[in-house]
Amino acid sequence: MTEFEARAERLLPDMIADIETLVRAESPTDDTEALARSADVLTAMGRGHLGSTPERVEVERRPHLVWRLGAGPRRLLLLAHHDTVWPFGSWGERIWKVEDGVIRGPGCLDMAGGIVQAMYALRLLAETRATLDGVTFLVTADEEIGSPTARELIEREAAPCQAVFVLEPGGPHGELKTERKGSSRYTVHVTGRAAHAGLEPERGVNAGVELAHHVLAVDTLADRAAGTTVTPTVMSAGTTTNTVPAQGALHVDVRTSSLAEQRRVDRALRELTPFEEGAAVAVEGGPSRPPLPPESSADLFARAERVAADAGLAPLRAIASGAVSDGNLTAHLGIPTLDGLGAVGGGAHADGEHVTASAIPGRTALLALLIADRLAARRPRGGRPSNRPS
Ligand SMILES: [Zn+2]
Repeated sequence: MTEFEARAERLLPDMIADIETLVRAESPTDDTEALARSADVLTAMGRGHLGSTPERVEVERRPHLVWRLGAGPRRLLLLAHHDTVWPFGSWGERIWKVEDGVIRGPGCLDMAGGIVQAMYALRLLAETRATLDGVTFLVTADEEIGSPTARELIEREAAPCQAVFVLEPGGPHGELKTERKGSSRYTVHVTGRAAHAGLEPERGVNAGVELAHHVLAVDTLADRAAGTTVTPTVMSAGTTTNTVPAQGALHVDVRTSSLAEQRRVDRALRELTPFEEGAAVAVEGGPSRPPLPPESSADLFARAERVAADAGLAPLRAIASGAVSDGNLTAHLGIPTLDGLGAVGGGAHADGEHVTASAIPGRTALLALLIADRLAARRPRGGRPSNRPS
């Protein structure tokens, strides 16, 4: 066991208590008052562990927190978010439970666990190093809805950095996420003409039938071999059971492994034309996050494997994920990005969301070692840091 792991092991009860504090704070993305309270809780927690107060950047009442640790130019960004997908009070009495080493609660995995692990990793490092020069810890408030208000801040904080570590949950067995698909969202609006379904249906233009054509058309845009999924999701048409529908709408979820595919599907969706005579179609939406290609994380992952091996930690594994994160944004800027460094567990965004308590010390130690390794990396002028230890 590494020194960091042993110390994190001793701190485990405190870490679980901090995860409980964050989970109980509850912070759904669409509830700005809850987010403000959650930001207060995080600010106090960070003051205790990091010894400093974050800058609070509010955009459209969403509070994002930035700790710029140490002095000097920014070199490493730790990226997290404190919003969750869970509506306030939705877990009721079950909001917090620890049983048989399994932690359960809304947002415990995504991503209170990752935030707490990062704070303790930084604290453990600060106890052994003089400074954390160049480390920025950013906790945003709207990742779960695609970061509309945090995107600019994320890009600004990441720009000067040579690496980004993302505290999203690891894979089911703690795998790091070295590849993520890009995502796009669309709404296809169709318009027909209402008519009485019994008296004169022939005078109507059925938006439901029109919509059905588009569901099938959109479905054919998927390309399994290229890793492209195009999924018609929520759809609706019509107003009453005896009226020819005048309006319909279809939501489409698109995931692609490459930018070229993201663009291909975007073009095809924009070129949709009506099938039924007299119907109209309008498409709204577009790409929300670019893909995180494997090249963005390859060097950092290889380095992490060596760091883990040298420290005697369990061998690291990598997986690709169909879900997006803010790591997609930083990778798209060309900044090496390693994702999935947060907590280990399962059931993110689902009723069974949980964190495996026994994995917390090892993950915290891994993160501390990776941060130390980055800070020790040589920095050739105007280039990326060398992967060789200095
Ligand atoms: Zn997340």
